Amino acid sequence: MKNKINPVAYFSMEIVVDEKLNNYAGGLGILAGDLLRSAADQKISMVGISLLSRFGYFKQKISSSGKQKALLENNNLKLLKKLKITTTIQIGKDSVLVGVWQYLIKGVSGFVVPVYFLDTDFLENKKIYRNLCDHLYGGDHLYRLRQEIVLGRGGVRILEALKIKPTKFHINEGHGAFAFVELFLKNQDKTLKELKKICVFTTHSPIKEANDIFLTNEIKRNFVDFPFFLDNLIDNGELNMAKIAIYFSDFVNGVSKKHAQVSREIFSEPRIKAITNGVHLGFWTATSIKNIYNKYFPGWEKNNQLLKKKSVSTSDLWIAHQKNKKELFVEILKLTGEFLAVDDFTTVIARRFAPYKRSALILEDINRLLKIQKKNGPIQIIYAGKAHPLDVIGKKTISDVLKIKEKYKNQIKIVFLENYNISLAKLLVAGADLWINNPLPPNEASGTSGMKAAQNGVPQLSTPDGWWPEGCHEGKSGWTINSSKNNLDNKVMLDVLENKILPIFYQDKLKWKKIMANTIKINAYQFSSERAIKDYSKLIYEK
Ligand SMILES: *Cc1c(COP(=O)(O)O)cnc(C)c1O
Repeated sequence: MKNKINPVAYFSMEIVVDEKLNNYAGGLGILAGDLLRSAADQKISMVGISLLSRFGYFKQKISSSGKQKALLENNNLKLLKKLKITTTIQIGKDSVLVGVWQYLIKGVSGFVVPVYFLDTDFLENKKIYRNLCDHLYGGDHLYRLRQEIVLGRGGVRILEALKIKPTKFHINEGHGAFAFVELFLKNQDKTLKELKKICVFTTHSPIKEANDIFLTNEIKRNFVDFPFFLDNLIDNGELNMAKIAIYFSDFVNGVSKKHAQVSREIFSEPRIKAITNGVHLGFWTATSIKNIYNKYFPGWEKNNQLLKKKSVSTSDLWIAHQKNKKELFVEILKLTGEFLAVDDFTTVIARRFAPYKRSALILEDINRLLKIQKKNGPIQIIYAGKAHPLDVIGKKTISDVLKIKEKYKNQIKIVFLENYNISLAKLLVAGADLWINNPLPPNEASGTSGMKAAQNGVPQLSTPDGWWPEGCHEGKSGWTINSSKNNLDNKVMLDVLENKILPIFYQDKLKWKKIMANTIKINAYQFSSERAIKDYSKLIYEK
C-alpha cells in the first residue's frame, strides 16, 4: 500500500527495524522502532531516518577474569535494500556523498512505514568520511559530530532526493538537531516562526553527560555555514545539541511526566510537555501470552485498548508464565550450563550498565539478602547488560557482580548472560517473576523494559523514577522503592522484598497471580507504543 498522505519524518541515531540488526545501544533505538511499528499499525504516515551502523554497537564477551570485551560484529545488510539515490553534503571544505538503504516496516493491515539508513561508504569520499556510518556511538568527538552532520543535514537532503515532503521533522534525542539548522538554511523564504511549527523535539535524558555537547569551534569547522545567531546558545565555548533542538521547536517533550518536569528545570524551558513512552505489544509479548490475548481480546493487535477491558484468567496466565519461565531457563542452561529451578522466585536485572542505573544495588548487603532467602524461600537473580566501552564505572560494576556471583555461588543463584540484546530481552521480560529497575532518581527519563515485562504479566519493583510513578499501583501492578534518602535505597528495596513481595509469591499464589493479571489490565495499553504514537499524532502531528 502506498502512503498518499505526506509523512512525518522521524530522525533517530538508532532505529530498530529487525532484532537481527545490531544498531542500538539500548532503549532509544528500540523505542524509535516500536513507535514506527505502531505508526504502521495505526496507519499514521511516517518515515524514519537513521545511520546505517555497518558494525552496529558491539558484541559483549566476558573474559574468564570477569572483564567485558567489546567485539566487532558485521551487521547483516541483506535485511535492507540499497537504493540508487544519493545526495551530497558539505563537511568542512569537503563534499561528501551520502547514499541510503531502505527497510519497510509493515503494519498489521499492510500499511508501510519506510525507514532510511544513511551511508557514506563511497569510493568518491575521503577515507575520514567513508567510515562515518560504521559504528554506533564509537570514535571520538569529531567522529560523533560528523555523524550527526550526516544524520541531520544528510537526512533532510535525502528526503528531498526521495521526493518526500514531510509535514513535520521530529528529532528523537539531540543527535539529529542539525536537521533543523539545515531546514533553516534551505528555507530562507520561511520565517523562523513558520519553521518552528514543523520542528518537533523529544528529549530523552536528564543527564548532562548523555546530551551531546560539542566545542563551538569544532562545529564551525565542520559545519561551515552554521548560522551566527546560534551563538546565543553557546555556553562556555560549547554547544548542546538538545539546546539547538529546543531552540527550533515549537513542540518539545520529555518521555514521562516526571522527566518532563525535570527537563523543564534543567533546560529552564517551561514549554516542555510530557508524552510518556510505550512499547510495541506485538513485538514484545511472548507467544503464550499472545494466545491469551487472542482468546480474551480478539482484534487486540489493531486496537491495544481492548486490553484494558477486563482481566485475563489467572490460571491461564500462570500456565503461560510458567511456560515462558521454562523457555528462559532452557536458554540459560544452553548459554551458561547453569540450572535454575522453575518453582523458585526469579528476578531479572537487565539493562545497560550505566552507573545511574545502579545494577548492583540489590547485592549491596549480601548477608541480609541471604537471610531473607533463608526466611522466605529461594531467590534467583538473572543479570544481563552491556557497559559502554569507555564507561569505566559501568565495566567495574559488571566485574563486581561477577565477583559476588562467584564468591556466593553455593548460597545464592546468580547468573550473568553475556551480550544483552533484543532476543534475550524478549525471553527475560516474559520469564521473570519480578522485573527490577532501580535507577538513581531523577536520572531515568522513562525506562521501557518494565513496560515490556508488564505486558507479559510480570510486575516491577522500581525506584520512583521515569515512567514508574505513572505505572505503579502499589501492590497491584508492582512496588515502589520509596526511601527518604538515596543511600537507603538498598535497605528499603530489601524491606519490600522481605515483607511484601516474597511472602505473596511463596505463601499466597492466588494473590500473586492476580497481581500478574493486573499488570496487564492496568499497564499494557497505557504503556504501549500504540497509545504513545496516538498521543504524538493527536498533540503534535495533526496540528
Ligand atoms: C528495552 C531494552 C532496553 C531499555 O531498557 P531500560 O529499562 O529502558 O533500561 C535496553 N536494551 C534492550 C536489549 C532492551 O530490550
